[in-house]
Amino acid sequence: MSLEDDAEELASDLGVDKEEVLEDLEKLVSYSVPLDEAKGSLRRKYGDGSASGGDEPTTKDIAEVTTADGNVTVTGRVLTVGKRSIRYQGDEQVIHEGELADATGVISYTAWEDFGLSPGDTVTAGNAGVREWEGSPELNLGQSTTLVFEDDDLDVPYEVGGDRTLGDLEPGDRGRNVVVRVLECEEKTIDGRDGETEILSGVLGDGTGRLPFTDWDPHDEITAGASVRIEDVSIREFRGVPSVNVSEFSTVIALNEDVSVSDEAPEMAIGEAVGDGGAYDVTLVGNLIEVRDGSGLIERCPECGRVVQNGQCRSHGAVEGEDDLRVKAILDDGTGTVTAILGHDLTAEIYGGGIEDAKDHARDAMDKEVVADDIREKLVGKEYRVRGQLSVDEYGANLDATEFAESDDDPAERAAAALSEVRG
Ligand SMILES: [Zn+2]
Repeated sequence: MSLEDDAEELASDLGVDKEEVLEDLEKLVSYSVPLDEAKGSLRRKYGDGSASGGDEPTTKDIAEVTTADGNVTVTGRVLTVGKRSIRYQGDEQVIHEGELADATGVISYTAWEDFGLSPGDTVTAGNAGVREWEGSPELNLGQSTTLVFEDDDLDVPYEVGGDRTLGDLEPGDRGRNVVVRVLECEEKTIDGRDGETEILSGVLGDGTGRLPFTDWDPHDEITAGASVRIEDVSIREFRGVPSVNVSEFSTVIALNEDVSVSDEAPEMAIGEAVGDGGAYDVTLVGNLIEVRDGSGLIERCPECGRVVQNGQCRSHGAVEGEDDLRVKAILDDGTGTVTAILGHDLTAEIYGGGIEDAKDHARDAMDKEVVADDIREKLVGKEYRVRGQLSVDEYGANLDATEFAESDDDPAERAAAALSEVRG
């Protein structure tokens, strides 16, 4: 859907001029306001005419709130509160985001005013706006919302507070707290919207897994090897892989004791891992059913690293390719398939030789394909355990392998486990 389509839909919803809406929408998006947020703010600006129909807000259970509601009144317990700064109509604005729950369900909220919310508070939000966020209803608490703190706490069947393990985090999460060890950390200079900015990026680990992180407002406590508690992080995703965002509103507390980090990557069924949209560090086990074209002895563009075919790079035209070794193999466990991609070192190990050996081999046979054929013969039909980063996007489900080994699992047991997972 283009911005123009969005503007048209919004304009007809709100009963206002499309050009005007499009202009506003383009401006907000150019300020890096996420599209859904931009649409939400325009709905507020133009009064959310048809959606609310001017009705008095009705009091609803949280599970009953739908994206068709204009305004509602709900009573709920604040589960989490995250603070974030966004640029709205050219100005920096601090918003609070999190989840609110009652006995019937959980709903996300965005507070455009500082109501002083804390996890555990029970509040009644009168005249809260409802907008759609990634297909689900979300509450907008703004100027026209009356917020009352209740004396009696509502009992809710959900965890109050943002403490989570890395394995529990999902893209879109806000106001989360983690206790982690900083496994990798480097300083980077990026071109931010206010010029050059220093940031930190690296990898965090705990007993459940590892995730990449970015600290947009470098905290001194975050250094390689440090064990820290980080409060108020949000989770973004990049090509299906969740990433932890640390901001100026995050609190970082240095811990005296080392946080233990698992050496293993969590093992998942392929269908589940792909369904989740990706994973930073995961172990998948399956039958290697095919070694794809573009495996074995290949050539890469010296400029961009893309695979060169017939001396041509897709971006750089005719180039002098550089030799490399690679395997692209399809792994299938009965619940799904992924393409495992093995780089030079893992490929050389499987092939039993390096680039020079492969070139000799190809020269003798007068055919480059002999290298891939050799690898194919060794791999196809056996079961492998592959660890790596799984990304799921328009290029498919690709597992960038960091470890690759023949599985010693009992195949019958594995098949049964996979089937029971599929049957739920
Ligand atoms: Zn290139």
